[in-house]
Amino acid sequence: MAGIWGSKKEPARSIVLSGGYEDDVDYGEEIIYTGQGGQDPRTKRQVKDQELTKGNMGLALSWTHGLPVRVIRGADHRSPHSPTAGYRYSGLFKVVKAWRKKGRAGFLMWHFKMLKDEAADDYSVDLGFYDINESPGGGTGAVPRRTYTITRVVRDNALTRRVKAIHNFTCQVCGVRLVGIAGAYAEGAHIRPLGRPHHGWDELQNLLCLCPNHHVLFDLSAFTIAPDYSLIGLPGKLRTHPAHPIGQDYLAYNREQYLNAHHVSVS
Ligand SMILES: [Zn+2]
Repeated sequence: MAGIWGSKKEPARSIVLSGGYEDDVDYGEEIIYTGQGGQDPRTKRQVKDQELTKGNMGLALSWTHGLPVRVIRGADHRSPHSPTAGYRYSGLFKVVKAWRKKGRAGFLMWHFKMLKDEAADDYSVDLGFYDINESPGGGTGAVPRRTYTITRVVRDNALTRRVKAIHNFTCQVCGVRLVGIAGAYAEGAHIRPLGRPHHGWDELQNLLCLCPNHHVLFDLSAFTIAPDYSLIGLPGKLRTHPAHPIGQDYLAYNREQYLNAHHVSVS
């Protein structure tokens, strides 16, 4: 079994902890996972630095976009958290930090700190795209509402990936594009919130591509958007894209919430 299941273009879907690296540390709820690569295929000895490619990039993407990773533990006599034989699925973990430092053999190794993600376990139905055993399906609109009762949890799905790709991860409010080691970062923000009591739909017309600051401000009713896309509560105008239609009814719902919150009478 390969250590990291995924590719350099997609977030990692799963990792296997099997004692392959001396630098791996397993505290149960917390794992320091060593990246892949740089080993001689025959001797298994480290012969060069690990690069931010393949599965390492996959884990860096999971980190960047806040996506959980399935952890499978293989037999490892050194770890009390591992089975004595075979493989055991250990649930979803979140990558919270990625860094590279010199390992015992003198080469730069990637390390990923991962924490058990109980919330993701509870809401794993939301992870259709990442579910190995189930069909990914269309990934649009069919996500049960209860998966969104956690507010502002940054969670990718097919739609948020699409809106971010259309805008090239550029905030539709301020035009800022944030870039980290695993590429650009932006958030998909719903105009009419999902779940009770708002019942917005998870569809492209109800999404914006925002930077984290403007996502928070939007959720906190610090600004809203007029029918002609000029901003209310902030200077400027929403950046639009022909491939991204925005639902006027969703904007109207958001404006009403904004006006109610700010005690502005609507005539
Ligand atoms: Zn912004």
